[in-house]
Amino acid sequence: MAEERGWREIPIGGLILEAGNAERYVTGGWRTYRPQVDKDVCIDCLQCWLLCPDMCINVEDGRMTGYDYAHCKGCGICERICPVHAIRMILESEAPGGADEGGCWRSGKKRAPKKGAGGGGRTA
Ligand code: SF4
Ligand code: SF4
Repeated sequence: MAEERGWREIPIGGLILEAGNAERYVTGGWRTYRPQVDKDVCIDCLQCWLLCPDMCINVEDGRMTGYDYAHCKGCGICERICPVHAIRMILESEAPGGADEGGCWRSGKKRAPKKGAGGGGRTA
């Protein structure tokens, strides 16, 4: 059995002791809501990739291909920023909710037109 550390050896909470170490921690378990993307609506603008604070948007060949659920905390920023409302947030207890393991699903809807230059998020 591993020796337990005393309180003097435990790092103080709330401090980032080393930059760039977030990928070592599986933080997806914190999530209450899970994002899913409708790839029939997504226009691959990659705004979600730019703004996700945890770099959880998977991209291949310039296309958004789903989520890294091991690290996605479910903050919903991607859902708010998506200019064509391709992302939905569902309760984690309802997952996978018709999507594949990467969070992609297809509604069969036609792609929505872009909203002006530069897109823009939803207004609350
Ligand atoms: S912001 Fe929306 S449209 Fe743009 S890549 Fe992400 S899911 Fe697709
Ligand atoms: S919900 Fe938040 S953490 Fe998860 S992919 Fe969207 S922006 Fe990133």
